[in-house]
Amino acid sequence: MIHYHCRHCEIELGTLPLKLAKKVLPFITKIEDEEEGERFLTYEEDGSLTVHTICEQCEQTLQQSPHYYVLEKWLQ
Ligand SMILES: [Zn+2]
Repeated sequence: MIHYHCRHCEIELGTLPLKLAKKVLPFITKIEDEEEGERFLTYEEDGSLTVHTICEQCEQTLQQSPHYYVLEKWLQ
């Protein structure tokens, strides 16, 4: 399974069965190519993959108050 979690509030946004992974693999590969890829992807021991993304609510919060984002990062 591929699990989508918000990396700010940890809410689960959804899951995808691995058989659908081919559809999202180009997207995942793109992330892995980036320097911060490891922060967005976690390979679990059972073979599943966790994608750390951002939910709509947090995205709105970040857009409205960037300082909140800095604080969140600092707390982690
Ligand atoms: Zn969130």
